[in-house]
Amino acid sequence: MHVTAAVLEKYGDPLRLRELELDAPGPREVLVRIAATGVCASDAHTRSGRIPSPLPVVLGHEGAGVVVATGAEVTHVEPGDHVALSWMPSCGRCRHCEGGRPVLCAVSAPALLRGTLMDGSVRMHDGDRDVHHYSFLSTFADHAVVPAASAIKIRDDVPLAVAALVGCGVLTGYGAVVNRAKVAPGSSVLIYGAGGVGLSAVMAACNSGALQVIVVDPQPDKRDGAAAFGATHVIDPSTQSVVQAVRAMTDGLGADVTIDAVGSEGVQAEAFDATATGGTIVCVGVPGPDASIAVPGARFVREEKYLTGSLYGSSRPGQDIPALLNLFAAGRLPVDKLVSQTYPLERINDTFDDMHAGRLRRGVVVLDEAAAW
Ligand SMILES: [Zn+2]
Ligand SMILES: [Zn+2]
Repeated sequence: MHVTAAVLEKYGDPLRLRELELDAPGPREVLVRIAATGVCASDAHTRSGRIPSPLPVVLGHEGAGVVVATGAEVTHVEPGDHVALSWMPSCGRCRHCEGGRPVLCAVSAPALLRGTLMDGSVRMHDGDRDVHHYSFLSTFADHAVVPAASAIKIRDDVPLAVAALVGCGVLTGYGAVVNRAKVAPGSSVLIYGAGGVGLSAVMAACNSGALQVIVVDPQPDKRDGAAAFGATHVIDPSTQSVVQAVRAMTDGLGADVTIDAVGSEGVQAEAFDATATGGTIVCVGVPGPDASIAVPGARFVREEKYLTGSLYGSSRPGQDIPALLNLFAAGRLPVDKLVSQTYPLERINDTFDDMHAGRLRRGVVVLDEAAAW
């Protein structure tokens, strides 16, 4: 079939809308009509080349839509089902999948940025040229063929724009707090960055009973947004010492849990100092490929701090995505308020400009207005 997709030909270039040929789904694949897709920092990083991908590629990995067709071996979804898309289609059989940590899947994780589906081939073509997939999904298009394990069946009474965001940014931020840091009631939680991931971490900290939810962001609008999502304190790092401010808010102790949703080296070094002895630092934002994290070695031993990464919210997407949508439906996870601007696919490049200008919590490209909301 012919589909319209936003194609990246060369790093740094704008995406260009093209009509591509999309093959029918293979036996363990699903054809999805995309209703909405968020635009995530990882898409921007690949557009710039910081996260490499084979080119040309159709970006987009935070999407939701409606199943159109399924391969012969697919039994868990059928045409008409609403699905959120997981960019880590776990195999279900490797030691990480068996051990309950499917986002570390030994089969899918190494293949994430290979630009193909699970069998190593592509379904998108531009004339004679193959066009690559992104994170198994490529949601910047009106339709996508995805691995069956990426199609997470969801309730059909939640807006697909909401489901799209839960498929990456929300799960990433929420899961870092709940699954990785396991925030306890009464904790102090420090969160760097008040974009879609950071605000999802704010919602998770509030839902987990954190006493203090402290958010650091240089943008005044973002700090206001954090307060609206339940942050108890906000810090402007351009005018205040974050470490001093956090200690002043926590009886001199520092935060029990720190979530870094930014991923710059300066933030990671500071996060160590802003976190209490015995506390946990969870790095979520992905730094540049050559970055490293330096911590003071003697204090690392004596203060018994945990320093850990968290990929995709350390989640089990098949369980956690439906659970988060249940929380949304119950009014306890206002994901819709993360959407600061919507765009048609024709204006996809504006989303990157607005993201870089710091104007967005989340920008969402809407392909099917009726289904998205
Ligand atoms: Zn993402
Ligand atoms: Zn696996």
